[in-house]
Amino acid sequence: MKSMDELQSTEDFDQDMKDMEERYAGKSPEYMVTYLCLKCNIDSARTEIDPPECFGCGNMEIETLQILEKKKITAEVMAERLKKVTDRMMENLKGAYFAGKEDPNVDFDEDQMLKLLERVKNLRDNVQGLELKEPDEQS
Ligand SMILES: [Zn+2]
Repeated sequence: MKSMDELQSTEDFDQDMKDMEERYAGKSPEYMVTYLCLKCNIDSARTEIDPPECFGCGNMEIETLQILEKKKITAEVMAERLKKVTDRMMENLKGAYFAGKEDPNVDFDEDQMLKLLERVKNLRDNVQGLELKEPDEQS
């Protein structure tokens, strides 16, 4: 019943998607930074384009996110990481979608939700398409 509280609203997702689309528009990240969250002890890897954030508890305070590692990323690492991020977004979104469908008290916009799901999918396909197109010649 109260699970909807923990789930993001469609507005939050919409904003998240806009942020992500803007951040990655025409850019390719060079570094993968691994942070250790001093609050919940979970490590999260982010590109230098993404703001530091703990995937475990959502902590975004830079003082409590210790940098464990910063390494140059390959197209493969990047594609895999972005797949994880977008997978997670799709899972959250699907969770919110089904919670909304089941609970008649929730103000739930199915059309908007479906559009968001579509955008997450598109973003992921674009990102992976880009990464895979990158030539693997290194010299
Ligand atoms: Zn944390």
